[in-house]
Amino acid sequence: MFREVELPEKLLQDQVPYAGEEVVREIRRLAQGMENLSVLHVNSTSYGGGVAELLYTIVPLTRDAGLDARWYVMDNVPTEFFEVTKKIHNSLQGAETPLTDNEWKLYEDVNMKLAEGFPPGPWDVVILHDPQPLATLAFLDNIPASQRPTVGRWFWRCHIDLSTPLQSTWQRLAGHVNRFDGAIFTSRKYAQEEVKIPVIEITPSIDPTSPKNAPIPDEEGRKIIASFGIDPERPLMVQVSRFDPWKDPFGVVDAYSMLKVKRPNLQLAMVGSIAHDDPEGVELLRKLKESAHQDHDIHVLSNEDGVGAPEVAAFQQLADVVVQKSIREGFGLTITEAMWKMRPVVAGAATGCKLQITDGVDGYIINTTQECSDRVDEILENPDLASRLGRAARETVRGKFLSTGHVANYLRLFDVSK
Ligand code: UDP
Repeated sequence: MFREVELPEKLLQDQVPYAGEEVVREIRRLAQGMENLSVLHVNSTSYGGGVAELLYTIVPLTRDAGLDARWYVMDNVPTEFFEVTKKIHNSLQGAETPLTDNEWKLYEDVNMKLAEGFPPGPWDVVILHDPQPLATLAFLDNIPASQRPTVGRWFWRCHIDLSTPLQSTWQRLAGHVNRFDGAIFTSRKYAQEEVKIPVIEITPSIDPTSPKNAPIPDEEGRKIIASFGIDPERPLMVQVSRFDPWKDPFGVVDAYSMLKVKRPNLQLAMVGSIAHDDPEGVELLRKLKESAHQDHDIHVLSNEDGVGAPEVAAFQQLADVVVQKSIREGFGLTITEAMWKMRPVVAGAATGCKLQITDGVDGYIINTTQECSDRVDEILENPDLASRLGRAARETVRGKFLSTGHVANYLRLFDVSK
């Protein structure tokens, strides 16, 4: 039921040029006395989406700090389970998609199997990410003590915007959450009143040393985007996202179309991947491609077209404006990635986006499609404004959203002496 993810080697020292000496020193100081502390992260997939992206850096850096950190993902889980957990995810973000009794049964049956096959440990700290493995803890309690792993402390890490959940889903899961020793949210604002356990606030981060975030020589970047049919000489608006209704891909196309009349040169690239646990995305991608096919300046591209990390990086770096028109967003890594590349970002007024961008200072927050279109227009019209927003954006990320700060926050959490 589980597979350990093979980790790349990542060193804290390599973060110094971006994050500075101080935070790395702080990590080493925090890690003193926690050498070999065993930390297990569990989530549903090692590919696609923000959580996998985060763990590929956070876990190796925690290891470099001296802890025994590991990452396991679910393995051999039926596809229908991911259809159910997608519904859970959507309804926790407020969609009217209640689960049927059979769907809950499938969710619980898989979690029971996950409990039975749980990585043996012993573990000092276990962090279960998002709703997919959330109910595992309840089923572990049913297993005789001699057969279940010894675990010091359990945390649930919620990456979802939980501010307006569908009550029927949330009420069913809240009891599971309260079995943990603590719940980690991106913002305290996401913790509903039913959460009775300690709430810890930790924001996600990006890794400045990953190929996704390293600068690409401009000429190379231009070649990459040109290979997808984009003219590097003409203005380009980009949204990088999974194909998900919460990311409002059709709203992005509308904002572009409003502006296209005034700016016939404008191009739009919608770049996204299809995650293994995201069957809904396949259908959305199909519809989006269909709706875009009359306009040759709209490019809908996915991993199936050969878009991997270097291509995503090139699109972000060469975009004149990056849009993230999310309706709900726990925290959009794509926003932070673009801000680090000094791009002006126009993002929807979701709670996560507002945590990341200060409107008018290091990007723009918009409430409507018209406003989105107007802000993109303003940025394209005014290169000085674009570079002012971009410079401020980079400093915001350096100060708040790099991997090193994230690792330091986890170490503070692990340290029971404080
Ligand atoms: N991503 C990618 N390829 C794509 C689309 C997205 O590598 O085609 C990455 C993106 O760069 C980011 C992550 O997937 O690092 C998405 O995280 P985010 O928090 O923005 O959204 P989520 O998918 O978790 O809702």
